[in-house]
Amino acid sequence: MREVKIFPSETGVSAWLETSSFKNHQFNQPGEIESQYDFVVVGAGYGGFAAALRLAEINPGCSVAVFEAIRIGANDSGKNAGFLIDVPHAFGSGDFSHEEKVWGVRMYTAALDKMRKLIKDNDLKVDWDECGKYLASYKRSTFKHLDDDAKELDVMGIPYKFYEGEELRQKLGTAYYKKAIFNPGTVLVNPADVLRGLFTIMPKNVKVFEKTPVLKIEDGTEPTVILLNGRVIKCKAVIVTAGPFLQEFGLCKGNTFCPIISFGALTRKLNEEELEPFKDVVPWGITAGHTAGTTVRYTKDGRLFVRNGLKYGTFYSCSPERIRFSQRLLRKAFVNRFPAHKHVNFEYVYAGMIHLTMNSRSLFGRKQNVYYSGVGEGAGVCKSFTMGSFLAEWSNGIDSDILEFLKNDTKPSWMPPEPFTTVGAEIRLVYETLTAGGEI
Ligand SMILES: Cc1cc2nc3c(=O)[nH]c(=O)nc-3n(C[C@H](O)[C@H](O)[C@H](O)COP(=O)(O)OP(=O)(O)OC[C@H]3O[C@@H](n4cnc5c(N)ncnc54)[C@H](O)[C@@H]3O)c2cc1C
Repeated sequence: MREVKIFPSETGVSAWLETSSFKNHQFNQPGEIESQYDFVVVGAGYGGFAAALRLAEINPGCSVAVFEAIRIGANDSGKNAGFLIDVPHAFGSGDFSHEEKVWGVRMYTAALDKMRKLIKDNDLKVDWDECGKYLASYKRSTFKHLDDDAKELDVMGIPYKFYEGEELRQKLGTAYYKKAIFNPGTVLVNPADVLRGLFTIMPKNVKVFEKTPVLKIEDGTEPTVILLNGRVIKCKAVIVTAGPFLQEFGLCKGNTFCPIISFGALTRKLNEEELEPFKDVVPWGITAGHTAGTTVRYTKDGRLFVRNGLKYGTFYSCSPERIRFSQRLLRKAFVNRFPAHKHVNFEYVYAGMIHLTMNSRSLFGRKQNVYYSGVGEGAGVCKSFTMGSFLAEWSNGIDSDILEFLKNDTKPSWMPPEPFTTVGAEIRLVYETLTAGGEI
C-alpha cells in the first residue's frame, strides 16, 4: 500500500469541539507508543471508536492502539450537525431498496442503543438529547419528500407526526417552515462532546493517541503501521476508519469518495430577551427536504446552528477564504429563519467534509489483515459506528447476519477520473444550490 500524501487538517474552528466539556481531556502521550500491539485502529471518528471498543470487548486481555491524525472531534465525526438518526438518510427516497432500509433501521437503532447504554452505565455527562428531529419544508414543492418519508415509515411501523402552520411555529419558535414531519427516534448531540466523552471511557488496554498521523500501512499476515513521526508498529490486524482518507492509503481506488465540503455556524448563547421567542420551545433539529437545503438546530444551551453550502473538496481541504465566504449563505439562511435575531453573531464557523460515494453506498472490505470501512452517505454516524463494530468482529473471526449483509451490500459505483469529477461535481452542486431556493 502507498504512503499517504494528504493528511487531515482542521478547517475553521469547530463549534462542537470548542464547546465540549471534554475539549481538554488528555489522552495517551506520544512517549507511551509501543512497537507492538495486537490491534491498531487508524482514525478516531465514530467508526474508530466502535472498532476499538469492540476489539477490547471481544479480547479483554488484548492491546489496542488508536491513532488519530488531528484532535479527536476536530474532524467530521465531531463536526457534523449532530443528528444521530435511527432511520437511513433520505428514508422516503428511492435511493435504497426496502431491504436495505430494513437493515439500516436495525443497524442504526443498535448503534444508538449501544451509545446510550455506554453513556448511562458510565454516567458520562455529554450533550445527548432524545428530542427527535423534523424534516421540514419551506416550499410546497418539497412537501412530496415529507409524504414519501411518511409512506416508508408507515410500511416499517415507525412512529412520526406531521406539524403545520401555527402548531409548527409554536414547536420551533420560527414561522419560516410550512410543514414538517417529526421523527421521535433521532437523538440530537454535540457530536464532538459525545465522541470525546466516549473515548474517555475506553478500557485500559486501549491506548488513544491524537495528533498522531499514520503515514503508511503495509498489509500482510502481520501488518506494519508506520507513523508520520517515524515510529514503526507491528500488529495482528489493522482497522482503518479514516473517512475519505481511506483512498490515500491505497485501500480503494483514488476516486471512490467525493469529498463534499459543507459549512456549519453556531451563534453565541442567546440572552434572556433573545430567548423570548423560544419560551416553552424544547431544543430541536431540522433537516431540509432538499439536498442543498439548510440544516438548523436550536440547542440545549440556547444557541442557533445552521449548516449549508456545498463545495467539492478535490484535495480534502478548504481554505480560510472559502470558509469566510461561506458565511454569506449561512447568514442568509439564519436571517430568513430568525429575522428578530439578525444582530446575533456566529461565534464559530467551520468546514466539514461529507464523504459521499457516487451511489451513496459504503465501502466495507479487507486486504489480508487490514480491514476498512468508509460511509459514503450524508448521515453516516450510526452507520460508521456499526461498520467499526463489525470490522472488529470480522477481524476476530466472528460471523453474523449483519456482517454478511455489510460484506455483500452494494459497493460504491464508478466515478470518472479527475478533472471530470471535480468539474461534474461543481456543476451539480451549483445546480442543487440554485434549485433549493427557500430551502436554503
Ligand atoms: C457538515 C457535516 C454535517 C454532517 N451531519 C451529519 C449528521 O447530522 N448526522 C450524521 O449521522 N452524519 C452527519 N455527517 C456525516 C458524518 O459526520 C460522517 O458520516 C461520519 O463522521 C463518518 O465517521 P467515520 O468515523 O467513518 O469518519 P470520520 O469522522 O471522517 O473519521 C475518520 C478519522 O480518520 C482520521 N484520519 C484520516 N487520515 C488519517 C491518517 N493518515 N492518520 C490518522 N488518522 C487519520 C481523520 O482525521 C478522522 O478523524 C455530516 C458530515 C458533515 C461534514
